[in-house]
Amino acid sequence: MGIEGRIIALVVAAGHGSRAGGEAPKQYAKLAGKALVRHAVERLRHPRIDEIRVVISAGQQSLYTEAVGELALPSPIVGGATRQDSVRNGLEALSAVGGVGAVLIHDAARPFLPARVVDALLDALDAADGAAPALSVVDSLALGGGTLGDAVPRDNLLRVQTPQAFRFDAILAAHRGWTGDTGATDDAQVARAAGLRVATVPGDAMLDKITYAEDFRRAEQRLDANLVSRTGLGFDVHAFAEGDELWLGGLLIPHSRGLSGHSDADVVLHALTDALLGAIGEGDIGDHFPPSDPQWRGAASSRFVEHARDLIEARGGRVDHVDITIICETPKIGPHRDAMRRSVAALLRLPLPRVSIKATTTERLGFTGRGEGIAAQAVATVRAPEES
Ligand code: MG
Repeated sequence: MGIEGRIIALVVAAGHGSRAGGEAPKQYAKLAGKALVRHAVERLRHPRIDEIRVVISAGQQSLYTEAVGELALPSPIVGGATRQDSVRNGLEALSAVGGVGAVLIHDAARPFLPARVVDALLDALDAADGAAPALSVVDSLALGGGTLGDAVPRDNLLRVQTPQAFRFDAILAAHRGWTGDTGATDDAQVARAAGLRVATVPGDAMLDKITYAEDFRRAEQRLDANLVSRTGLGFDVHAFAEGDELWLGGLLIPHSRGLSGHSDADVVLHALTDALLGAIGEGDIGDHFPPSDPQWRGAASSRFVEHARDLIEARGGRVDHVDITIICETPKIGPHRDAMRRSVAALLRLPLPRVSIKATTTERLGFTGRGEGIAAQAVATVRAPEES
């Protein structure tokens, strides 16, 4: 029995609990530069999922917009007092739209969903009403209460994670018919109470819930372990022209001549932008900001660097280091070098030691030697997730 209708992911992000030491509710706390809920949403962008809806708490609209606004998701659904109420609100909102065949219900606090889990869950719906990822328990279990109590046999115990996938009509009916007096901690419990069959698929340690401050630290270390180092190379040349506006490295440098060409002709930032884009295989500056487009005429090149930096960060990567060489006879770069380093470091949000700027001449040889223009080279070292 295949799934007829759309497959929707419902991300529950309506909690009020804040991370230890944090101010924002946990789902909006940042991990590796992005809110937890954003990680969760991004991992649900899967070829078999048609739409992602987030259930938020009333009054958290601005936190939501800041965290995931630029992903242009359909408007969020307002949740209720408990997790279960929030899920129910989400399901009712989907029901009102109609045409939903299956739903994956996921906690925002489980940011690192492997794509294979989504496939396994949806495949499992061929033979069951619902499916949940589960892991066996490897630690010893015992009753607590001050001192260690009796051991609990762990042989048949499972750690149940999310997302949990369900045939939509079945889970909606189960939630509507729930009569338990306390909120269920997950939807598989609601499904089972309604007599539905819930299959299990292999869970993943990456799906562990982020609850405490130490979970954030551990998750960041895990993320780091998944990053691979890449190097990008950029090169650019601009010719001197009439006018005395010379922009280099985001600074206006006093000089008798300016450079001509694309935007403000900041040859240093253009080479740097190409190096950043190159490190993530994103083409070059002309692909993103075509020179033929009048809106870039005279534009500040700092926005090109920021765009490349944002692309890297959007895929969970970060810039480790950049090294730039400026090749010209004039102006003398030395007096401006420190200010230029600070300018580039600020654009990339990097500490100063991770930005290097050097200058050289070509011993009066070639076009730079004849003072016809300035060339710049840049190398960027970037860490980004393996799959990107
Ligand atoms: Mg250029």
